[in-house]
Amino acid sequence: MRKAIIGGTGIYGLSNEVEQRTVETLYGAVECDLIRVGDQEIVFLARHGKGHSAPPHKINYRANMMALKQLEVKEIYATCAVGSMNPAFEPGDVVVINDFLDFTKSRVQTFYEGGETKVAHVEMTQPYCPNLIDRFKNAVSLTDLSYKGEAVYVCTEGPRFETAAEIRMYQKLGGDVVGMTNVPECVLAKELGMCYSALGIITNWCTGIEGVQIEGHVIDEAMGKNKESLTQLFIKLLTQGSSEVKCRCDQSLIIL
Ligand SMILES: [Zn+2]
Repeated sequence: MRKAIIGGTGIYGLSNEVEQRTVETLYGAVECDLIRVGDQEIVFLARHGKGHSAPPHKINYRANMMALKQLEVKEIYATCAVGSMNPAFEPGDVVVINDFLDFTKSRVQTFYEGGETKVAHVEMTQPYCPNLIDRFKNAVSLTDLSYKGEAVYVCTEGPRFETAAEIRMYQKLGGDVVGMTNVPECVLAKELGMCYSALGIITNWCTGIEGVQIEGHVIDEAMGKNKESLTQLFIKLLTQGSSEVKCRCDQSLIIL
Protein backbone atom coordinates (compact mmCIF):
# COMPACT_ATOMS: atom_id res chain seq x y z
CA MET A 1 0.00 0.00 0.00
CA ARG A 2 1.37 3.35 -1.00
CA LYS A 3 0.44 6.97 -0.37
CA ALA A 4 0.42 9.58 -3.10
CA ILE A 5 0.65 13.33 -3.17
CA ILE A 6 -0.87 15.26 -6.05
CA GLY A 7 0.16 18.85 -6.43
CA GLY A 8 1.99 20.62 -5.20
CA THR A 9 4.28 23.29 -3.96
CA GLY A 10 7.14 22.48 -1.64
CA ILE A 11 6.95 18.74 -1.96
CA TYR A 12 10.44 18.32 -3.33
CA GLY A 13 11.72 19.49 0.06
CA LEU A 14 10.60 16.13 1.47
CA SER A 15 13.52 14.03 0.32
CA ASN A 16 16.63 13.94 -1.80
CA GLU A 17 15.87 10.40 -2.88
CA VAL A 18 13.70 10.81 -5.96
CA GLU A 19 13.25 8.17 -8.65
CA GLN A 20 11.45 9.20 -11.85
CA ARG A 21 8.99 6.69 -13.22
CA THR A 22 6.86 6.58 -16.39
CA VAL A 23 3.69 4.53 -15.93
CA GLU A 24 1.93 3.22 -19.04
CA THR A 25 -1.85 3.06 -18.67
CA LEU A 26 -4.75 2.32 -21.03
CA TYR A 27 -5.35 6.06 -21.15
CA GLY A 28 -1.81 7.22 -21.79
CA ALA A 29 1.60 7.43 -20.12
CA VAL A 30 2.07 9.32 -16.86
CA GLU A 31 5.30 10.62 -15.40
CA CYS A 32 5.61 10.63 -11.64
CA ASP A 33 8.27 10.47 -8.97
CA LEU A 34 8.82 7.92 -6.26
CA ILE A 35 10.11 9.70 -3.16
CA ARG A 36 11.56 7.98 -0.12
CA VAL A 37 10.29 9.50 3.17
CA GLY A 38 11.46 7.57 6.22
CA ASP A 39 10.63 3.93 5.57
CA GLN A 40 7.92 4.72 3.02
CA GLU A 41 7.98 5.19 -0.72
CA ILE A 42 5.58 7.99 -1.66
CA VAL A 43 4.30 8.66 -5.18
CA PHE A 44 4.40 12.29 -6.24
CA LEU A 45 2.31 13.30 -9.24
CA ALA A 46 2.44 16.78 -10.76
CA ARG A 47 -1.21 17.16 -11.75
CA HIS A 48 -0.60 19.46 -14.71
CA GLY A 49 2.42 17.48 -15.89
CA LYS A 50 6.03 18.47 -15.54
CA GLY A 51 6.48 22.16 -16.28
CA HIS A 52 2.73 22.86 -15.73
CA SER A 53 1.98 22.09 -19.37
CA ALA A 54 -1.69 20.92 -19.29
CA PRO A 55 -4.52 23.41 -18.57
CA PRO A 56 -7.25 22.17 -16.17
CA HIS A 57 -9.69 21.07 -18.91
CA LYS A 58 -6.99 19.11 -20.77
CA ILE A 59 -5.43 17.21 -17.88
CA ASN A 60 -5.54 13.48 -18.57
CA TYR A 61 -7.34 12.71 -15.31
CA ARG A 62 -8.05 9.07 -16.17
CA ALA A 63 -4.40 8.34 -16.98
CA ASN A 64 -3.26 10.14 -13.81
CA MET A 65 -5.57 8.20 -11.52
CA MET A 66 -5.05 4.85 -13.24
CA ALA A 67 -1.26 5.33 -12.91
CA LEU A 68 -1.68 5.79 -9.16
CA LYS A 69 -3.84 2.68 -8.97
CA GLN A 70 -1.26 0.67 -10.92
CA LEU A 71 1.39 1.86 -8.45
CA GLU A 72 -0.78 0.34 -5.68
CA VAL A 73 -1.69 3.67 -4.16
CA LYS A 74 -4.47 3.54 -1.56
CA GLU A 75 -4.36 7.04 -0.06
CA ILE A 76 -4.21 10.27 -2.07
CA TYR A 77 -3.37 13.63 -0.51
CA ALA A 78 -3.96 16.37 -3.09
CA THR A 79 -3.20 20.05 -2.89
CA CYS A 80 -5.04 22.62 -4.96
CA ALA A 81 -4.83 26.36 -5.37
CA VAL A 82 -8.28 27.89 -4.87
CA GLY A 83 -10.01 31.25 -4.84
CA SER A 84 -12.20 32.15 -1.88
CA MET A 85 -15.78 33.40 -1.94
CA ASN A 86 -16.17 32.96 1.83
CA PRO A 87 -15.10 36.01 3.87
CA ALA A 88 -13.79 33.67 6.61
CA PHE A 89 -11.14 32.21 4.29
CA GLU A 90 -8.51 34.75 3.25
CA PRO A 91 -5.63 34.50 0.78
CA GLY A 92 -2.78 32.62 2.49
CA ASP A 93 -5.16 30.45 4.58
CA VAL A 94 -5.64 26.73 4.00
CA VAL A 95 -8.86 24.70 4.18
CA VAL A 96 -9.64 21.00 4.01
CA ILE A 97 -12.14 20.22 1.25
CA ASN A 98 -15.12 18.15 2.41
CA ASP A 99 -17.53 18.23 -0.56
CA PHE A 100 -17.89 19.66 -4.06
CA LEU A 101 -20.31 21.31 -6.47
CA ASP A 102 -19.53 20.31 -10.06
CA PHE A 103 -19.76 22.88 -12.85
CA THR A 104 -17.38 21.23 -15.30
CA LYS A 105 -18.64 20.77 -18.86
CA SER A 106 -16.47 18.67 -21.11
CA ARG A 107 -14.62 16.12 -19.01
CA VAL A 108 -14.85 12.36 -18.99
CA GLN A 109 -15.78 11.49 -15.41
CA THR A 110 -15.76 7.69 -15.51
CA PHE A 111 -13.79 4.60 -16.48
CA TYR A 112 -17.11 2.83 -17.21
CA GLU A 113 -18.47 3.74 -20.63
CA GLY A 114 -20.71 0.79 -21.34
CA GLY A 115 -19.98 -2.24 -23.56
CA GLU A 116 -16.94 -4.15 -22.34
CA THR A 117 -16.29 -1.57 -19.64
CA LYS A 118 -19.85 -2.00 -18.31
CA VAL A 119 -22.02 0.66 -16.71
CA ALA A 120 -21.33 1.80 -13.16
CA HIS A 121 -22.38 4.54 -10.78
CA VAL A 122 -20.17 5.77 -8.01
CA GLU A 123 -21.67 6.69 -4.68
CA MET A 124 -20.93 10.24 -3.45
CA THR A 125 -22.09 10.43 0.18
CA GLN A 126 -18.50 11.14 1.23
CA PRO A 127 -16.56 12.14 -1.90
CA TYR A 128 -13.53 12.98 0.25
CA CYS A 129 -12.33 10.21 2.57
CA PRO A 130 -13.34 11.00 6.18
CA ASN A 131 -10.19 9.33 7.52
CA LEU A 132 -7.90 11.41 5.35
CA ILE A 133 -9.85 14.58 6.20
CA ASP A 134 -9.12 13.84 9.88
CA ARG A 135 -5.47 13.19 9.13
CA PHE A 136 -5.12 16.43 7.17
CA LYS A 137 -6.74 18.33 10.07
CA ASN A 138 -4.53 16.68 12.72
CA ALA A 139 -1.35 17.27 10.74
CA VAL A 140 -2.18 20.85 9.80
CA SER A 141 -2.68 21.76 13.47
CA LEU A 142 0.97 20.80 14.08
CA THR A 143 2.26 23.32 11.54
CA ASP A 144 2.16 27.11 11.34
CA LEU A 145 -0.22 27.02 8.37
CA SER A 146 -3.27 29.22 8.86
CA TYR A 147 -5.94 26.49 8.89
CA LYS A 148 -9.47 27.91 8.80
CA GLY A 149 -11.73 24.87 8.60
CA GLU A 150 -13.50 22.63 6.11
CA ALA A 151 -14.81 23.99 2.83
CA VAL A 152 -17.10 23.15 -0.07
CA TYR A 153 -15.23 23.27 -3.39
CA VAL A 154 -16.86 24.55 -6.56
CA CYS A 155 -15.22 23.01 -9.62
CA THR A 156 -15.43 25.10 -12.77
CA GLU A 157 -14.40 24.16 -16.30
CA GLY A 158 -11.84 26.93 -16.71
CA PRO A 159 -9.40 27.92 -17.89
CA ARG A 160 -11.08 31.30 -17.62
CA PHE A 161 -11.85 32.66 -14.17
CA GLU A 162 -15.45 33.07 -13.03
CA THR A 163 -17.66 36.11 -13.54
CA ALA A 164 -18.91 38.10 -10.55
CA ALA A 165 -22.46 36.85 -11.24
CA GLU A 166 -21.28 33.24 -11.23
CA ILE A 167 -19.52 33.74 -7.90
CA ARG A 168 -22.71 35.22 -6.40
CA MET A 169 -24.58 32.13 -7.61
CA TYR A 170 -21.98 29.73 -6.19
CA GLN A 171 -22.15 31.52 -2.82
CA LYS A 172 -25.93 31.09 -2.76
CA LEU A 173 -25.52 27.38 -3.52
CA GLY A 174 -23.20 26.84 -0.56
CA GLY A 175 -19.75 27.07 -2.17
CA ASP A 176 -16.77 28.34 -0.19
CA VAL A 177 -13.84 28.08 -2.59
CA VAL A 178 -13.44 27.63 -6.32
CA GLY A 179 -10.96 25.67 -8.39
CA MET A 180 -10.74 23.79 -11.69
CA THR A 181 -9.33 20.33 -10.98
CA ASN A 182 -10.95 18.34 -8.13
CA VAL A 183 -13.61 17.02 -10.51
CA PRO A 184 -13.14 14.47 -12.00
CA GLU A 185 -9.95 13.71 -10.03
CA CYS A 186 -11.88 12.93 -6.84
CA VAL A 187 -14.56 10.97 -8.72
CA LEU A 188 -12.12 8.77 -10.64
CA ALA A 189 -10.16 8.01 -7.44
CA LYS A 190 -13.39 6.76 -5.91
CA GLU A 191 -14.19 4.60 -8.95
CA LEU A 192 -10.82 2.93 -8.43
CA GLY A 193 -11.46 2.44 -4.70
CA MET A 194 -8.73 4.83 -3.55
CA CYS A 195 -9.13 7.21 -0.61
CA TYR A 196 -8.93 10.83 -1.81
CA SER A 197 -8.49 14.08 0.09
CA ALA A 198 -7.57 17.64 -0.82
CA LEU A 199 -6.08 20.63 0.91
CA GLY A 200 -7.15 23.95 -0.58
CA ILE A 201 -4.57 26.71 -0.50
CA ILE A 202 -6.36 30.05 -0.79
CA THR A 203 -4.44 32.11 -3.31
CA ASN A 204 -6.87 34.93 -4.08
CA TRP A 205 -10.35 36.33 -3.57
CA CYS A 206 -12.85 35.30 -6.21
CA THR A 207 -14.05 37.72 -8.86
CA GLY A 208 -16.22 40.49 -7.44
CA ILE A 209 -15.14 39.89 -3.83
CA GLU A 210 -13.24 42.74 -2.16
CA GLY A 211 -13.20 44.52 -5.53
CA VAL A 212 -9.74 43.14 -6.33
CA GLN A 213 -8.73 41.89 -9.76
CA ILE A 214 -7.01 38.50 -9.81
CA GLU A 215 -3.35 38.81 -10.73
CA GLY A 216 -0.73 36.14 -11.31
CA HIS A 217 1.80 37.50 -8.85
CA VAL A 218 -0.76 37.34 -6.01
CA ILE A 219 -1.25 33.62 -6.64
CA ASP A 220 2.52 33.01 -6.74
CA GLU A 221 2.97 34.94 -3.48
CA ALA A 222 0.32 32.91 -1.66
CA MET A 223 1.88 29.62 -2.81
CA GLY A 224 5.42 30.80 -2.01
CA LYS A 225 4.46 32.02 1.47
CA ASN A 226 3.25 28.55 2.45
CA LYS A 227 6.02 26.53 0.82
CA GLU A 228 8.01 25.65 3.96
CA SER A 229 4.90 24.98 6.03
CA LEU A 230 3.47 22.68 3.36
CA THR A 231 6.64 20.62 3.42
CA GLN A 232 6.31 20.34 7.22
CA LEU A 233 2.66 19.38 6.81
CA PHE A 234 3.42 16.54 4.42
CA ILE A 235 6.22 15.15 6.57
CA LYS A 236 3.79 15.05 9.52
CA LEU A 237 1.01 13.56 7.37
CA LEU A 238 3.14 10.85 5.86
CA THR A 239 4.79 9.77 9.08
CA GLN A 240 1.70 9.61 11.29
CA GLY A 241 0.04 6.23 11.81
CA SER A 242 -3.00 5.06 9.92
CA SER A 243 -6.44 5.61 11.37
CA GLU A 244 -8.28 2.60 12.77
CA VAL A 245 -11.66 3.66 11.42
CA LYS A 246 -12.76 1.80 8.31
CA CYS A 247 -13.93 4.07 5.53
CA ARG A 248 -16.08 2.93 2.61
CA CYS A 249 -14.02 4.42 -0.21
CA ASP A 250 -13.30 0.99 -1.69
CA GLN A 251 -17.01 0.04 -1.69
CA SER A 252 -18.48 3.05 -3.46
CA LEU A 253 -18.83 1.62 -6.95
CA ILE A 254 -22.14 0.16 -8.04
CA ILE A 255 -21.64 -1.86 -11.25
CA LEU A 256 -24.82 -2.72 -13.16
ZN1 LIG B 1 -11.22 6.26 2.53
